[in-house]
Amino acid sequence: ETIGATLSRTVESFGDRVALIDRAAGRQWTYQEFHRDVRALAAGLVRLGVTSGDRVGLWSPNRFEWVLTQYAAAEIGAVLVNLNPAYRQNEIEYALTQSGTSVVLAAERFKDSAYASMLGEARPKCPELREVVLFESPEWTALLAEPSAAEAQQVASIADGLHPDDPINIQYTSGTTGHPKGATLSHRNIGNNGYMVGQLLDYTENDRICLPVPFYHCFGMVMGNLAATSHGAAMVIPAPAFDPEATLAAVSEYRCTSLYGVPTMFIAELALLDERGDSHGFDLTSLRTGIMAGSPCPEQIMRQVVDRMHMGEVSICYGMTETSPVSTQTRVDDRLELRVGTVGRVGPHLEIKVVDPGTGDTLQRGETGEFCTKGYSVMKGYWNDPEKTDEALDGDGWMHTGDLAVMDDNGYVRITGRIKDMVIRGGENIYPREIEEFLYTHPDILDAQVIGVPDEKYGEELMAWVRLREGATDFTVDDLREFATGKIARHKIPRYVHVVKEFPMTVTGKVRKVQMRAEAADLLG
Ligand code: ATP
Ligand code: MG
Repeated sequence: ETIGATLSRTVESFGDRVALIDRAAGRQWTYQEFHRDVRALAAGLVRLGVTSGDRVGLWSPNRFEWVLTQYAAAEIGAVLVNLNPAYRQNEIEYALTQSGTSVVLAAERFKDSAYASMLGEARPKCPELREVVLFESPEWTALLAEPSAAEAQQVASIADGLHPDDPINIQYTSGTTGHPKGATLSHRNIGNNGYMVGQLLDYTENDRICLPVPFYHCFGMVMGNLAATSHGAAMVIPAPAFDPEATLAAVSEYRCTSLYGVPTMFIAELALLDERGDSHGFDLTSLRTGIMAGSPCPEQIMRQVVDRMHMGEVSICYGMTETSPVSTQTRVDDRLELRVGTVGRVGPHLEIKVVDPGTGDTLQRGETGEFCTKGYSVMKGYWNDPEKTDEALDGDGWMHTGDLAVMDDNGYVRITGRIKDMVIRGGENIYPREIEEFLYTHPDILDAQVIGVPDEKYGEELMAWVRLREGATDFTVDDLREFATGKIARHKIPRYVHVVKEFPMTVTGKVRKVQMRAEAADLLG
């Protein structure tokens, strides 16, 4: 069904339950109130001349206006173009032109980015862009005015004409390995995936999901918002941008039952708890579950989250923008000893396989190869980019993820890294992930990343980048050797160590190894 139809059913069943809380704005909506505002905004968009298939850009950090726009656009089948809050002038112009966006809804500014003036500058260069509405302007308020009966009728008839396979979203990938690519997604793609994520976590109308993850990315918009609205749960926005203190405060104040984050967010929250000590003042007893996903989830961090944040369990999900996003997920009833270190099993109605990246042959369980997935979740293609689409999707509908994985006899999948990040040292394949997991067991190490750097003798050598815990002063190659000798194979002990305060990151909170490799090349001269 369409996203709009799902929302209507939720409103019928859970109309008086909380749908949305925006902590920074100090506002909250029940499902009935939320639906009223979504429909008003849908009518407002129709007044602006938007209809199904038109691209509507959304450029804003996490705020309630984001969520209203997401559902209003879906209601009339407009294709929502999620614009990364960190985009600069060139990137915004590229995304608006590439997607053929005609209307943009945006925050006036965010941090040091003046969106309003950047959009003004972009306008003459983006021929299809004809309207910009800022959330702070009277035009926005007018869009939310109560629609007339005729307008409401018009929205309803547009909604009736929609099909679940229509595109409703262009999601740009994180740009971890290069330029972001715009995945075209339908109601069927993301609506079902959001529902699946919620179902595997046993979400009900009694759940409240704390969402510090960006909405512009599918982690927030699908695994958060669509999972919540398809099960009657509440979406809680702790702050416009990630902030560990606001996140834990939101959990305490609104008695959230579920908390999301990429690993680096959980690491920051654990560090805050450390810093505050036992009387940290956050009440986390309402938490029963959560999701950690988006990049490799170290086992140590997973265990600490469970032990120290009062979570019965934290679900690990694996996926990518192109697959709506989730392919595999650990479930509430999975036994810890089976799932630990894995990203769970394939979701219902989806297929997965691990293939030899060279030949494309399906591999045996226990063998490492490229992870491929097929089913309702697979995108329609990259927007206006048939060439890239053909590289990623084969003729049989399999999405080739570019990730390396291994599946065990019980169907649990381990992600061993990205094909592009694999290090080949002296002819031997090394998965940085494995060494990172090991480094996390060192008491002084807060966060660790391992990359390959060019080497004359071995082709590549390993370099560990580490962030140290408060109080730890230094960490040298000798410290590392002493710690690692006898515990991991000699050839896997990194030759270089580089201590940093922060890693280069994408806004989705992913470490940019491309950038680290470039900086490392400079460091080594
Ligand atoms: P780009 O495609 O632009 O380089 P990206 O691949 O990071 O960026 P996303 O679609 O946001 O963009 O992220 C999907 C990728 O994130 C996956 O292909 C995988 O490499 C990684 N990933 C997601 N979840 C996990 C997980 N649980 N464990 C390990 N890696 C993960
Ligand atoms: Mg990718």
